Amino acid sequence: MKTYFPSDLKCVVLLGVDFDGPCHEVGRGIAPLGIHSWGRYSAKRGVPRHLEMFQRLGVPCTFFVPGYDAEQYPDLVKAIDSSGCEVAAHGYLHEAWEMPFEEEEALLRKTNDILGNLLGKQVLGWRSPSGRKSDRTMQVLKSMGYIYDSSDKDYDLPYRLRFSDGAGGTNNLIELPNNTYSLDDFPFYKFSHTPPSEVRDQWIDEFEHIYNSDGFFVLTVHPRSGWGSGTPSRSRAFEEVIRHIQQYDGVRFFSCAGFAQWCLANPHYLEEACHT
Ligand SMILES: [Zn+2]
Repeated sequence: MKTYFPSDLKCVVLLGVDFDGPCHEVGRGIAPLGIHSWGRYSAKRGVPRHLEMFQRLGVPCTFFVPGYDAEQYPDLVKAIDSSGCEVAAHGYLHEAWEMPFEEEEALLRKTNDILGNLLGKQVLGWRSPSGRKSDRTMQVLKSMGYIYDSSDKDYDLPYRLRFSDGAGGTNNLIELPNNTYSLDDFPFYKFSHTPPSEVRDQWIDEFEHIYNSDGFFVLTVHPRSGWGSGTPSRSRAFEEVIRHIQQYDGVRFFSCAGFAQWCLANPHYLEEACHT
């Protein structure tokens, strides 16, 4: 069996929480009230519940936070950071629509300023709120000092993403691909209405296969009510997955930035690829 990481690092585990508060509705022109208030649950209950759980279990995590949500809930975003979890960028209004590049760049920089000024530190990573991105997106992230992107779905391992620098050369970022179908709560709770215990079993099954193969496990959850994992029984399912993983030898939990820094320090373990 091919070993991708050092022998004492059998499996890397990255837990990503996409904050996805009321920005989700506001960005679509919907008042985040009544049936559309699922995002506010994220801020009021889901994120605090997940934060408490990460601290109790002693695992790091990355919260991908849209700029608008950080403006609405600055104290909560500061609490995420002071708990030791990472705060990374996730759009301003969770923009999932096509837009001119200049508008995209302005929103990337706006969110970077909001998070950077709020926390007094450099933001290191980004996850596209829709999966939409381009080489120009990567150029902006690089220019702002980001070290990783976690938006692509094209591989089972981290890699060095090479992209055009827009001036005839190339540049690169660490890419941490995520699997937004079987290792994401959204499809299970939005489309198939899968019971939490079955979601838990699916994620454990995925983990066991990854543990015995590539050793790179990236799980994405959303702390909203509605289609998210913020509510008690779904949070419990998430916790049971983490507890299960913690029993295995050679597993190490990282924040996304922590692992991207490990990748930069250990470049020989990573392949290099471009988008084509
Ligand atoms: Zn999102």
